[in-house]
Amino acid sequence: APPVLEISSLCVDYGVGEGAVRALHDVDLTLRRGEVLGLAGESGSGKSTLAYAVTRLLSPPGVITGGDVRYHPREGSPVDVLAMTPQQLRAFRWQEVSIVFQGAMNSLNPVHTVRAQLTDVLKAHRPQMSRAERVERARELLSLVGISPDRLGAYPHQLSGGMRQRVMIAMALALEPEIVIMDEPTTALDVVMQRQILRQLVRLREELGFSVVFITHDISLLIEFSDRIAIMYGGRIVEQAGAADIYRDPRHPYSDGLLHSFPALRGPRRELTGIPGSPPDLRSMPSGCAFHPRCPKAFDPCGRRTPRLAPVGTDTGRSVACWLNDDDHDRRSGEK
Ligand code: ATP
Ligand code: SF4
Ligand code: MG
Repeated sequence: APPVLEISSLCVDYGVGEGAVRALHDVDLTLRRGEVLGLAGESGSGKSTLAYAVTRLLSPPGVITGGDVRYHPREGSPVDVLAMTPQQLRAFRWQEVSIVFQGAMNSLNPVHTVRAQLTDVLKAHRPQMSRAERVERARELLSLVGISPDRLGAYPHQLSGGMRQRVMIAMALALEPEIVIMDEPTTALDVVMQRQILRQLVRLREELGFSVVFITHDISLLIEFSDRIAIMYGGRIVEQAGAADIYRDPRHPYSDGLLHSFPALRGPRRELTGIPGSPPDLRSMPSGCAFHPRCPKAFDPCGRRTPRLAPVGTDTGRSVACWLNDDDHDRRSGEK
């Protein structure tokens, strides 16, 4: 499928000058039309920073210090997201890209009904719709996410956590965006609920044709629902591949560690070993490969040189940033 969002060499810092820390390093990532892309990584790896940066919602002290984000509309030529005017951005968000944020179910306005919150989005962006049309559309949106339209008059506190989350998804879909980004929308919910909501989103994706970026640290959920997965560590993407390929054969030792941090969904049981140590501190990033102090396979070049994300062997669509996968190094050292 053709790309819908192309991110290249994206860099983000928090702060400027002396005190600045780099939260994203040269991130390259392509979202294709209609796919579900899973983004995984421990807390602090930069997942939300990436979501905020590509939608231009990053607020100070966050600054985009380099790179390129290109949006490909269904018709017309690609658009430079980083060069958009405030007016263009307003249209871009909601109509082209929408985000459901971490903990979003608590960001519904407690004093407004579901109807009011859904129709407000429509009112702001579709001024030509009549009141009756907006209410009709709100009913339609609720049904779409599996909530009875009878609940239109409900206040957030009258809904369960799962239903509030669905309302947030309904709002995100209100203007039929091409891309829906879900930033760990389900942390507060139990696993059964998380799976239900994801299943629903994937079904809606098939019906409506949008692309999904789904962000979580629970890689087992991603394996079940994503087409492709990108794994982040210390502000970099360290591996990117088809979900099944990563599950079967993770190439980056960190991907392997993440897979062993969550129970397998099906197939043979994995031993849960987790990853020893803790994620790096941005203010004192390890030299070379940032994962080297925790990596069971670290060897000679790892502490000195930073591996770049590069395609691996003949595996189409897979790229890895690890010296173990570097052919030149293999040739030099004769090891694999
Ligand atoms: P989580 O899984 O906990 O949501 P994440 O992968 O989304 O983590 P980010 O929130 O993107 O991680 O944070 C990436 C890094 O940037 C972290 O080290 C964080 O401390 C730092 N960071 C985030 N927001 C700010 C801020 N406003 N000011 C300074 N540093 C920040
Ligand atoms: Fe481990 Fe070295 Fe690969 Fe980093 S580059 S993941 S330290 S083997
Ligand atoms: Mg986050």
